[in-house]
Amino acid sequence: MDVRPYIGRFAPSPSGHLHFGSLIAAVASYCDAKSNQGTWLVRIENLDPPREVKGSADDILRTLEGFGLFWDNAVQYQSQRHHLYDSALQKLKASGMTFGCACSRKDLASVGGLDFYPGTCRNGIPHEKEGKSVRFQVSKSNIENIKWNDLVQGNQNVLKSSLGDFILRRSDGYYAYHLAVVVDDADQGVTNIVRGADLMDSSPRHLLLQEALNLGSPLYAHIPLAYNIMKDKLSKLTNASPIQIEDAPNQIQDALKFLGQLDVEIDLPEKMLSQAIDQWDVSKIPKSSRTHWT
Ligand SMILES: [Zn+2]
Repeated sequence: MDVRPYIGRFAPSPSGHLHFGSLIAAVASYCDAKSNQGTWLVRIENLDPPREVKGSADDILRTLEGFGLFWDNAVQYQSQRHHLYDSALQKLKASGMTFGCACSRKDLASVGGLDFYPGTCRNGIPHEKEGKSVRFQVSKSNIENIKWNDLVQGNQNVLKSSLGDFILRRSDGYYAYHLAVVVDDADQGVTNIVRGADLMDSSPRHLLLQEALNLGSPLYAHIPLAYNIMKDKLSKLTNASPIQIEDAPNQIQDALKFLGQLDVEIDLPEKMLSQAIDQWDVSKIPKSSRTHWT
């Protein structure tokens, strides 16, 4: 029986303002942590400096505060944690679970290998080329069926063979999201991950890395996504409107409704959240993603 104290987290990337889609992930992870007397951490996932929008990390933190979403401990920034990703990568290399890859996006696209790596460099890089990225060799994992019980989406079972060898370090030298997130969650002692269902596809890769690095796996709860009327996920890419602190009470009420929770009275954000924590029931969160007006 796992008796580790609950540690949850919210991990936005600083590529723009918070929008309703990110608010539901923040509210869900916060309420789930606090209703379990847990710790709630915030980690800024700024692995990709060229895509980082200047001032966005601070804007996100001010918005969270304005919504009464106060985090525990110091905010962590992935840009300051490269040494951890590097030592994890060295460990995987040492156990023979990685290989260098020289394929460009163009190379992969030309063989229809963008979604599933065709294995081109698995047994060595073609002579005239240089291995610039590093991939995880999925077939080397001890796990065949990747299983987990998602606290919202139910039992999951993914065949290892359905996953292509994925990137751990990109050709530009930056660490890939899959490696960083697994290393960070383990390093911060995260026990419960509540995040958007768009990351369901990533979880099998995270479970493989956790096993390969001997890290243990947290519990997962993938919450439904909010779509705009065009059926696009609300995100910075689809120009979702930023949430405004002045509108926090209404937005919090909407977020809780979206998450299938009981209504809370309009009040100060902190008071609304405290009521939401008392009433929080993860089993009421609907599985399906759906449209939300913003
Ligand atoms: Zn390759």
